[in-house]
Amino acid sequence: PVKRNKETQEARMKLPICGEEQAIMEAISNNPVVIICGETGSGKTTQVPQFLYEAGYGNKDSDNPGIIGITQPRRVAAVSMSKRVAQELSLSEQEVSYQIRYDATTSPKTIIKFMTDGVLLRELANDFLLSKYSSIIIDEAHERSLNTDILIGVVSRVLKLRAELSEEEKSKIKPLKIIIMSATLRVSDFTQNKNLFVMAPPVINVNARQFPVSIHFNKRTPDIDHISETFKKVCKIHTRLPHGGILVFLTGQNEISILCRKLRRKFPYIKQNQDTYMSRQLLEEKEIINEAVEKVRECLTAKQADIETEDLDIGDKEVEEAESFDTDSEDSEDIKDFDNDEMIVDQHAGPLYVLPLYSLLSTHAQLRVFEPPPEGTRLCVVATNVAETSLTIPGVKYVVDCGKVKERQYDVTTGVQSYVVGWTSKASADQRAGRAGRTGPGHCYRLYSSAVFNDQFQQFTVPEIHRMPIEGVVLQMKSMNIDTVLNFPFPTPPDHDKLRKAENLLQYLGALNENGRITELGRTMATFPIAPRFSKMLIIGQQHGCLPYIIAIVSALTVGDPFIKDFHLDNNRNSDEEEENEDDRSNELSGIHKENILQKERRKLIRKSFYDVQKKHSGLDPTSDILKLLSVVGAYEYEGGTDKFCESNFVRPKAMQEIHKLRGQITNIVQMNCPGVDVCVDPKMKPPSTIQIKALKQIITAGFIDQVAIRKGVIEKSSKTFSSTRNVEYCTMWTEDVVFIHPTSILYHNKPPNFVVYQELHKTSKVWMKGVTVVESS
Ligand code: ADP
Ligand code: MG
Repeated sequence: PVKRNKETQEARMKLPICGEEQAIMEAISNNPVVIICGETGSGKTTQVPQFLYEAGYGNKDSDNPGIIGITQPRRVAAVSMSKRVAQELSLSEQEVSYQIRYDATTSPKTIIKFMTDGVLLRELANDFLLSKYSSIIIDEAHERSLNTDILIGVVSRVLKLRAELSEEEKSKIKPLKIIIMSATLRVSDFTQNKNLFVMAPPVINVNARQFPVSIHFNKRTPDIDHISETFKKVCKIHTRLPHGGILVFLTGQNEISILCRKLRRKFPYIKQNQDTYMSRQLLEEKEIINEAVEKVRECLTAKQADIETEDLDIGDKEVEEAESFDTDSEDSEDIKDFDNDEMIVDQHAGPLYVLPLYSLLSTHAQLRVFEPPPEGTRLCVVATNVAETSLTIPGVKYVVDCGKVKERQYDVTTGVQSYVVGWTSKASADQRAGRAGRTGPGHCYRLYSSAVFNDQFQQFTVPEIHRMPIEGVVLQMKSMNIDTVLNFPFPTPPDHDKLRKAENLLQYLGALNENGRITELGRTMATFPIAPRFSKMLIIGQQHGCLPYIIAIVSALTVGDPFIKDFHLDNNRNSDEEEENEDDRSNELSGIHKENILQKERRKLIRKSFYDVQKKHSGLDPTSDILKLLSVVGAYEYEGGTDKFCESNFVRPKAMQEIHKLRGQITNIVQMNCPGVDVCVDPKMKPPSTIQIKALKQIITAGFIDQVAIRKGVIEKSSKTFSSTRNVEYCTMWTEDVVFIHPTSILYHNKPPNFVVYQELHKTSKVWMKGVTVVESS
């Protein structure tokens, strides 16, 4: 008995997938694996789990009592889709639950469970039969994320085993059903791969009721930065074209914040319930600050063109934030008539309700895009790839596509990573355009020419397995007793060199023995939801009572750098509530009236407090960026984990909360797996003693033992001395290139040490070491 309210019922019936319910359920009951292809928005993610539920899957008294599991490459989608399905079925958040790395609503009552693909991979290590589940839906398979690819390979084996066992013990074990869902028709890597599925699974195509979308290419592809180009296009749409939501695709958080701010300034939306006079004041004040910050940014960008500033969300698929300002300017013909009047508030066009959407944003802020915009405003969502297929934003009629995407690239032999902003693929561009045709005919504005599209865009995006380090998944496979990784049924296998390199690193860390078999240590390492080298640090971290510190450190390293970069100051802090927050430093400035002095002074003050904070957290030990992280994590807990702390310490609240949660999780795993070890998350953790600091640095060195860099002068026995590390060359084991200490390192302004270990190498104009620790001479 399914209870849906009338509204839901009506909305559902309009979804194309509901016309295929019978065909889909028949295919599922007759086949172990079914592939469903359907346009984004056709209802795959929200409806297919409900079909299974209504057919009795997940019902304790039925033939298929196990949970219905749905995997997503992105956390945002796992959380928001579970909430949506719970609401449609009028079930609780425990019955339709989600589990992501930092959060879960699962309970014994769970019937439908949304999770990231990484979560299911971890479960497989403990329960290779997936015995809790009756069916697994692998969603967004077209994205070809690393975890999704591995998952498809693994479940193809689980399937066989469950089928065999169910023959033997009919009453106890039921066969498993696999449903692979894709937003594109390109599924031959799954259907034609005999190594994966011996029998090609049936493919059901859902014919979406897609309205026509007119594609408008720019006549020429301007060389200018795509933010201004995008800004102009959105202004033009908003001032001249009929109502309908606008969806803008940019490459990262930073670009999104800039565009949102510009648009909000141009077409301000002021909340009704606020005192209008006050809000105008705030708005003006805010504008002054923003301008100042923007100037600082421009100036810094010019100066530090070398410094790239990515944040990455290791482990899950999400990569955010880019800093790529091109400064040439050349207008495309299409927008020649456009005045450069962005500073003037436009009162005729009416307010624009501008919302950012990217993965580092808080869940609460992310879910705002599903709500109808306030009366009298036009919705404008400025998003990363998240909106390409994972989330369908209602009411979008115009899409503005910058044509770019930011991808993490990884060099297998050197371990050098880089973030490259490049043209997206034709397939992705078409997905983006498709977002405009869900509710009626729409328009897609491509900020590049059709010649560029035809000649320079790849047909499809390269699967992530060919672009990412894979030692983590190799260790996970080994812990599932998949010993010969070379024979693993990857949809598109990585090359042998890459697999071998991953195995070598794991041997280095002691996770595998010389025959490539997993060791006891390796098994313990695999129980932690973190990269193998971090697990290694945990396991050797028990000396001198260092474990609580190491747990905090690896949690922070896993979540990623929480510090806001100096040239994001003010702008990105609390980006969820950008428009609502006032700067509390303004009090110190009352009395200074002239606007430009105000700007300058404010800027100085913010920058000064930023550097004071950096200094404060370097106080623990001035020779390790990683101990600086420990300092800020300790201080955050000590002071109660407040947003205020984040604000005054220039760290992102979401990152700090995730670090906090991960510390708790890791601590639990240690307690469960390492009997006799007594750890807890102590909010009043004392700073480490001198002996402990020394030990911590040795543990860090051990974790990064293959990532040592030696000052070139030491090798050359040169006697030249330096006062800072600027331009000082280092050599590593893996690359011929010399590498440099990144300017955001606390070591940057010090005398260059002889030996360091680094956390990551990032390539921009030079190869930079990030997360640097001086090697202790013992
Ligand atoms: P698909 O997975 O095929 O891309 P979905 O099942 O995600 O499609 O979406 C189907 C429809 O449900 C879309 O029109 C979308 O706008 C709507 N929808 C999904 N989630 C929400 C939500 N949280 N709030 C409102 N509408 C939603
Ligand atoms: Mg979907």
